[in-house]
Amino acid sequence: MIPGPSRLIDDPVEDPSAAAGGAADLGELDEAITRCTACPRLVAWREEVAMVKRAAFRDQPYWGRPVPGFGPADAALGIVGLAPAAHGANRTGRMFTGDRSGDVLYRAMYDVGLASQPEAHGLDDGLVLRGARIVSPVRCAPPANKPTPGERDTCAPWLARELELLRPTLRAVVVLGAFGWQALLPILGAAAWRIPSPRPKFGHGAHAELPAADGGPPLHLLGCYHVSQRNTQTGKLTPEMLRAVLEQAKDLAGIG
Ligand code: SF4
Repeated sequence: MIPGPSRLIDDPVEDPSAAAGGAADLGELDEAITRCTACPRLVAWREEVAMVKRAAFRDQPYWGRPVPGFGPADAALGIVGLAPAAHGANRTGRMFTGDRSGDVLYRAMYDVGLASQPEAHGLDDGLVLRGARIVSPVRCAPPANKPTPGERDTCAPWLARELELLRPTLRAVVVLGAFGWQALLPILGAAAWRIPSPRPKFGHGAHAELPAADGGPPLHLLGCYHVSQRNTQTGKLTPEMLRAVLEQAKDLAGIG
């Protein structure tokens, strides 16, 4: 894997901070994200995976680009993952779509009324989210699912702008896993909310209410174990546990 220019993107975005700040709405932001090439290691990796492919998906085209958020622009609930999966979102182009983690997440979202169907296969599968938008602090699939702190920081302006654009309606956020929690807190603190001191700690079922810095309504922050296979196959996170957090978040966000 040799970092170099993108083989898939003709008109790259190299400065996420400037591009995110210039996005007037979520449509513009999503489009700009898909052209980002700011992290050479991740550009090389996402495209390498897209070219080599997994045997089971040999006949399918891979997305191989950054993955934008998914869900309505007036979402009241945010669901924060970690980063796209190499053969899931990096293949299909939509968060949690086409992998086992997504099977668990979308099933639970459907069960509590946040998704129109329990399954997600690809961009044309008809799935619609209700009141919720799935976002992530890192938009490119990282090797071993581990972005570096530098890559996380480089990617932060995309999520910061996304939260700013969602601000009028956003009332609650469910964070899947400790990495997402740690990455999200500074972004929330730099956006419209105040982070209590000491900082709220991640845990399954953790709940903190962040007062608004702009005089608006507070944001409810909820922790949930990540829907990774390691957690769901060992029973660390059961469907019932996931549904309970989503139900609580839905109530706090005022989604009927
Ligand atoms: S991780 Fe984020 S900042 Fe880095 S290349 Fe991907 S989209 Fe751009």
